[in-house]
Amino acid sequence: MLAMNYRGPKRVRIDHKPMPEIQHPEDAIIRVTRACICGSDLHLYNGNVPDTRVGTTFGHEFTGVVEEVGAEVTNVKVGDHVLVPFNIACGRCVFCKQGLFGNCHESNPQATAVGAIYGYSHTAGGYDGGQAEYVRVPYANTGPMVIPQGMDPDDAVMLTDVVPTGYQAAEMAGIQTGDTVMVFGAGPVGIMAARCAWLFGAGRVIIIDKIDYRLEFARNYAKCEAYNYEEIGDLAVFAKKQTDSLGVDVCIDAVGAEATGNAMQTITGRKLLLQAGSATALHWAINCVKKGGIVSIVGVYGPTDNLVPIGNVLNKGLTIRANQASVKRLLPRLIEHVQNGILDPKALITHRLPLEEVADGYRLFSAKLDNCIKPVLIPPS
Ligand code: NAD
Ligand code: ZN
Repeated sequence: MLAMNYRGPKRVRIDHKPMPEIQHPEDAIIRVTRACICGSDLHLYNGNVPDTRVGTTFGHEFTGVVEEVGAEVTNVKVGDHVLVPFNIACGRCVFCKQGLFGNCHESNPQATAVGAIYGYSHTAGGYDGGQAEYVRVPYANTGPMVIPQGMDPDDAVMLTDVVPTGYQAAEMAGIQTGDTVMVFGAGPVGIMAARCAWLFGAGRVIIIDKIDYRLEFARNYAKCEAYNYEEIGDLAVFAKKQTDSLGVDVCIDAVGAEATGNAMQTITGRKLLLQAGSATALHWAINCVKKGGIVSIVGVYGPTDNLVPIGNVLNKGLTIRANQASVKRLLPRLIEHVQNGILDPKALITHRLPLEEVADGYRLFSAKLDNCIKPVLIPPS
């Protein structure tokens, strides 16, 4: 079958790989119909996540048709068109039982790591992903969900990650009615977080990025204010000016470990040059939020990253909430939001490429070319 193949930093290609096989009675094999490229894939692509192995097929946002099921699979049957949450979750461990499907212990028992994720580094279990013609879906009684009748498949693929992640970012931020919410990162995740902030009662939503076309997209799609940080200067001063001089009520980090940009920032009066692979947005979030405020982090950091300016957190009395999204927990309400037209995630898909052009897809999305917000790969049918 055709599959994306990681060859090393900034090198991916399309290759032939053996067909995946049922390895466990709870497995299913899915013929992929759509697979997005995500900002999380860029951390891998840029070589910033430990133990990302050459030969891995990325892709954790996919839909497909069930091709084969193991003997114990009862949740889906051959021929079902399904969407597959990016978390690989057993559904029965102590964390899954609490709704923490992103922290499943059985699928990835390393204590300090996330639960397993399709097509990620071996720190996330080392499972191959869906940027391929076929993919093995473990724990098929928990993850895959039949796409509701009448739902646009482009909406369905956005429900595997972007919608729940944006929504959970806003949920973790504990937004109170009338709050000013500042979102860092106008990628698909930040834009969706900004859109969802209104659902929790935000009074003002401000998004920050450096890419003007994305800021423009966010303004239109999420009906928020949007600013280019390269034109602002000190963001903490800006945040105070925007509010009653105390800072914003909550900040959302939808950037994560920034792989490509260096940025200057003033922290306690000193100019610091935050190097590639650092946490510029997170530092800004901590500086811009008011005392006692909440910083919600969905931007991804590697398992060994250790970048929180804890002095500011303690002295401002901040609450920090962070996690991978728990897709399965959120799907029922988010499907309803899509069906009622409250959320329109397919509008974020700007590019559609044949799977064979996966390398172009990574180049385009990584360099933010051609006004790209979200690319989707379509395997040959
Ligand atoms: P993306 O690459 O499309 O967007 C990131 C945006 O951040 C870009 O537009 C970039 O210009 C902007 N940016 C970079 N540095 C910035 C800074 N200092 N301040 C403000 N903006 C800055 O990525 P995406 O697909 O939107 O994903 C965003 C983040 O969310 C990634 O870290 C990704 O790994 C993470 N993510 C997390 C989860 C989860 O469950 N927690 C799920 C999906 C994605
Ligand atoms: Zn993703």
